[in-house]
Amino acid sequence: MTLATAQSIGCGDAPVLKERGQREVFCGLTGIVWLHRKMQDAFFLVVGSRTCAHLLQSAAGVMIFAEPRFGTAIMEEKDLAGLADANEELDREVARLLARRPDIRQLFLVGSCPSEVIKLDLSRAAERLSAKHAPAVQVVNFSGSGIETTFTQGEDACLAALAPTMPATDEEQLLIVGALPDVVEDQFNRLFAQMGLRNVRSFPARRAADMPAVGPNTRFLLAQPFLGDTAEALARRGATHLPAPFPFGAEGTALWLEAGARAMGADPATIEAAIAAPQARARAALARVAADLRGRSIFFFPDSQLEIPLARFLARECGMVPLEVGTPFLHRGVVGPDLDLLPAGPTLSEGQDVDLQLDRARKARADLTVCGLGLANPLEAQGLTTKWAIELVFSPIHGFEQAADLAELFARPLRRRGLIEAMHP
Ligand code: SF4
Repeated sequence: MTLATAQSIGCGDAPVLKERGQREVFCGLTGIVWLHRKMQDAFFLVVGSRTCAHLLQSAAGVMIFAEPRFGTAIMEEKDLAGLADANEELDREVARLLARRPDIRQLFLVGSCPSEVIKLDLSRAAERLSAKHAPAVQVVNFSGSGIETTFTQGEDACLAALAPTMPATDEEQLLIVGALPDVVEDQFNRLFAQMGLRNVRSFPARRAADMPAVGPNTRFLLAQPFLGDTAEALARRGATHLPAPFPFGAEGTALWLEAGARAMGADPATIEAAIAAPQARARAALARVAADLRGRSIFFFPDSQLEIPLARFLARECGMVPLEVGTPFLHRGVVGPDLDLLPAGPTLSEGQDVDLQLDRARKARADLTVCGLGLANPLEAQGLTTKWAIELVFSPIHGFEQAADLAELFARPLRRRGLIEAMHP
């Protein structure tokens, strides 16, 4: 099916239920968990409270096997008169850290929500520290505060802060934007190379020295749907966004790759030749898992902004029936192509009023409810089967080779529930 015919039956023009109330979602600091793995000579220094340190330790602690590349400078309560000391303290902490860790090339000062941190001007601190530690280390600041960001917005804030520091270029190039696991990035690079594309770069790069340049002949594909501010920051540098469905599943991956390759002048026959075999493999692997998903209903609470592309994948490639698709923000410029393909029917909701949404979820009683950690246990206790949204962000789910693994993440809780029910009829 082409995008044009899909539009007439999709959710592109469907009404959106907008909610503004209490929300249950992690803050943007969580993004550090995957960003620090991607950017191998970066360090993320959270300027925050003990709560922030605990969040990072509990969210990331179990996943760290190497020397960690993030830490928390804990700010105790200070009045305004104490701010000069706070700045000096921060400078001292940074100097100590950089002396101990000469491998660090990029230092991020990450803001948080305690009031004593809000009083500190971290962008001035970053400028001051950059001047002091250049050229060995670049210091950039962004906010991961729970007041300003939901959890995937931390990556958006980080990349949007980096975009103005990218070197300029007039070269024609394709930029893949978003922190993908290295193995997935390598798969996409190989496929683009088979299509004859020579100048494909990734942002963020694995190392600071490989930071890509950007300019008027840069076209970019977003690899993650939560990068709206980054897309705007790149557009301000003259780059052109290529709208496309996100690379989830056999169909989404093919359309995403095609959008990039066509924009760079690859001919349709070469594109088809490169994607035919991996797409067929992905379809065959998916068919095996989809048998457990076909006809089952699903309800998405808003968490990661991945919800609309994932609902599109589950509906079209796995035969699931989305009842509600919630997203923290609905950015049509970014997820428009996925919305057009998502079959009409589900309630689309943007933002959250958690009590009202819980009522709708209990009424809908979907076969599977995708939600945050805080809601999963109470909903399970009420007999609903849940899937933790955060796992979808921490797992490699993009591309042909991961399509069946992605479907499997949704099939597993349904199978587990089936087993429990068989044991306790
Ligand atoms: Fe909590 Fe705010 Fe720190 Fe996030 S940034 S852990 S919401 S105090």
